[in-house]
Amino acid sequence: MSEFDRKTIIEAAREVPVVAQSDVVVVGGGAAGVTAAISAARNGCKVTLLERYHHLGGMASGGMVLVLDDMTNGREITVSGIIDEFIARMEKEGSAVVPPESERVSSEAMWRKWSRWGVHDFHSHQKPQPITYAVAFDPDAWKRTSLELLREAGVELRLHSWFSQAIVEDGRIKGVIAQTKIGRQAILGDIVIDTTGDLDVAAGAGAAFMQGQYIVTTVFRLVNVDTEAAERFQFEHPQEHARLDREARRIIGGAWEMWWLKTPIPGVIWCNCPHMPGYDGISVEALTKAEHEGRERMMNLYDYARANLPGFENCRMLGAAEQIGVRQTRLLSGEYVVTKDDVVNRRHFADTVCRGRDYYTPYRALLPRGVEQLIVAGRHYSAEPQAQRMSREIPPCMMQGEAAGVAAGLALNAGKTLREVDAREIQRRMREQGADPGDVPSANALIAEAAA
Ligand SMILES: Cc1cc2nc3c(=O)[nH]c(=O)nc-3n(C[C@H](O)[C@H](O)[C@H](O)COP(=O)(O)OP(=O)(O)OC[C@H]3O[C@@H](n4cnc5c(N)ncnc54)[C@H](O)[C@@H]3O)c2cc1C
Repeated sequence: MSEFDRKTIIEAAREVPVVAQSDVVVVGGGAAGVTAAISAARNGCKVTLLERYHHLGGMASGGMVLVLDDMTNGREITVSGIIDEFIARMEKEGSAVVPPESERVSSEAMWRKWSRWGVHDFHSHQKPQPITYAVAFDPDAWKRTSLELLREAGVELRLHSWFSQAIVEDGRIKGVIAQTKIGRQAILGDIVIDTTGDLDVAAGAGAAFMQGQYIVTTVFRLVNVDTEAAERFQFEHPQEHARLDREARRIIGGAWEMWWLKTPIPGVIWCNCPHMPGYDGISVEALTKAEHEGRERMMNLYDYARANLPGFENCRMLGAAEQIGVRQTRLLSGEYVVTKDDVVNRRHFADTVCRGRDYYTPYRALLPRGVEQLIVAGRHYSAEPQAQRMSREIPPCMMQGEAAGVAAGLALNAGKTLREVDAREIQRRMREQGADPGDVPSANALIAEAAA
């Protein structure tokens, strides 16, 4: 057999230096991971956080997903905790925009004022859709805030560290190995929190998972857009606007109705498109192809917008997001798998530890089967693919992170395993630290339960 016919090679065994040893190792510095690390540190743990890139935030910053939604069920705010500190800090420096309470109503005037911020309730059947509690923010502010909060919490941060292998002994995770520029490095811990979004650690440790898939998106931003002129045209010439907008969406080849949204920087908009189906968000070949296709489509829209859309005549391309927008890949098959029915029917669980809009996450949906001292948080949590599509917004991912950090603290402080931690203790501790664990079902959930 020629050297070039080989299908596999055997890697040589090698000694790997242990560069850090912590109570808790969090892998993945996205919204869920940063929150998990802060939460675990505030609960008395020595925490190390690993991130493959040079920035924190994952989809919320590198992916330029710039609206926090699913934080209210229309009657009450359903998400609160460490996320409020992010919002308050960014708002203070003018990097976050939140509609005031008095303007969270369904009216033509408020629709005109707020819909291009993406802060309306897009699940509502009311016309116009009500303005709701949601937050538009700046991606760099998100990165800075993450760094600040982690430093204040005393978390050891290791950027440029790409998780490559789980260290598992007798069914218990003991740490991870990261690939870095200077070789492989081991980071040991009593508990590991997987917040990679793609379940890299849990899958590597042998936990069961489902392979999900959904559209990927090359989010991009345009600068020097006359948003006032664009909005004026939209509302004063609705039919002509609808025609041009339909054509824009045909050219980009896949976009939601509100495909461009304002950001806290005047004249800068983010475009939540093009949406591209059929790409596996963890395949090197697929992602490489998607990077090409996304940019081609983005530039087609750019040319069209400059030539045709009022307000866009002088805009310039600010660039594609650093990370392609991946929504769903591997999903944990954990102690409990959240179903589409659970989400749609607002099913409440006795061991609920967080909620989004009006859907609830049981503690069991963060725990893998078969691997001890490992917990997950974020978009790869244990849910059916259809359920995950409806419940993976940034705020609930952060709440899962906060709950996972609390669970780690409770386990280590009491000398218990993660599986032995009572969810009621997590709920109590979360309330003590100002977070809403969703332990009290909302009126909507009670109505849905009574109707079932
Ligand atoms: C285009 C698009 C639009 C969306 N729109 C909205 C919206 O309007 N509002 C909303 O709230 N949500 C929206 N979402 C969903 C939301 O952005 C995500 O579900 C959420 O941000 C996921 O957060 P996470 O922390 O679980 O995962 P991620 O943000 O994916 O974070 C994972 C982190 O882990 C790191 N990582 C991954 N693998 C490794 C590894 N091997 N080693 C080390 N580090 C690793 C990554 O670099 C990243 O920092 C959208 C998503 C997309 C893609």
